[in-house]
Amino acid sequence: MELHRELLTAEMIEPGTGKPVRSSIEVRFDPLTGHSSRILPERGLMPASDFDLEAFARQTQSGCPFCPGQIGRLTPRLPARIHPGGRIASGEATLFPNLHAYSSHSSVSVYSPRLHYLPLEAITPRLLTDNLATQVAFAKAVMAADPGARWASINANHMLPSGSSLFHPHLQGIVDTQPTTMQRMLADVPAQRFAAYLETERRGGERYLGDTGRIQWTASFAPIAPAEVRAFADGISSPAELDDDLTAELADGLARVLGAYADMGFQSFNCAIYGAPPGTEGYPLNLRLACRSSLKPFYRSDSTFLERLHWESAVDLPPETAAQRIGERFR
Ligand SMILES: [Zn+2]
Repeated sequence: MELHRELLTAEMIEPGTGKPVRSSIEVRFDPLTGHSSRILPERGLMPASDFDLEAFARQTQSGCPFCPGQIGRLTPRLPARIHPGGRIASGEATLFPNLHAYSSHSSVSVYSPRLHYLPLEAITPRLLTDNLATQVAFAKAVMAADPGARWASINANHMLPSGSSLFHPHLQGIVDTQPTTMQRMLADVPAQRFAAYLETERRGGERYLGDTGRIQWTASFAPIAPAEVRAFADGISSPAELDDDLTAELADGLARVLGAYADMGFQSFNCAIYGAPPGTEGYPLNLRLACRSSLKPFYRSDSTFLERLHWESAVDLPPETAAQRIGERFR
């Protein structure tokens, strides 16, 4: 498979010197969905976090509905037809319905009520395994109770810049009769194209992160967002099909990437595990994970008119540089 890119050149007269200067912009095309992405020269668009997250955690803790003592009182419960217990627990993780639903079945799952402050370097494989396990159980329970709801995803808005409205770290699940735009686009990709893309990345090596067993990890060739990583789990197409071993493998890979993000100075991320209906032939369960701007007063959002309105990302962190940093955690 040929990974397609075009080089653009901008020319301008430099202020002060009056001399002509040129800069390059690389436009890359995602081999799976065709969306394009702009790789800009390094210009410090994603400064490292220098914000005192721990102090902010203390400020936001009083009255937090996900903290001990409040969670049982202030969060909703699942209808009995979905889960008789009202909430789904695994280890320290607890799942309940999202008070502000985005779909027919929307859930929130906290890593632990006690972990109001959870920097990325402290998100362990154990915490992730348990939290993912509640989401897998939720997807299974919803599909059993509502057979028309075949499209499941597990997602994260981690810290305010990513869209999270509550500080307390959590995952979010969606199970519905309708896919999101990206779920539909990915589910429409022919099986051979996933195989050819992964083969190309594995052979090229400059973005490929590793194979953790049944899951392959690579930095995106044409990222939607900074330091974007994608993963593909062969043999299953929905989060509802994740068994315990595969959940643990996914959690282990995610913890590696999040640890690398912390090393790179980032503390906010989005994640999506895009399910297609269970049993979809040739669709490997897809995951995408990327950094967001660091939290601080008057910060710059990494999501601009390009990302929001043109569906075209512009990043100044080359995917190959991100792959080098994140790859250290996979070797
Ligand atoms: Zn809390």
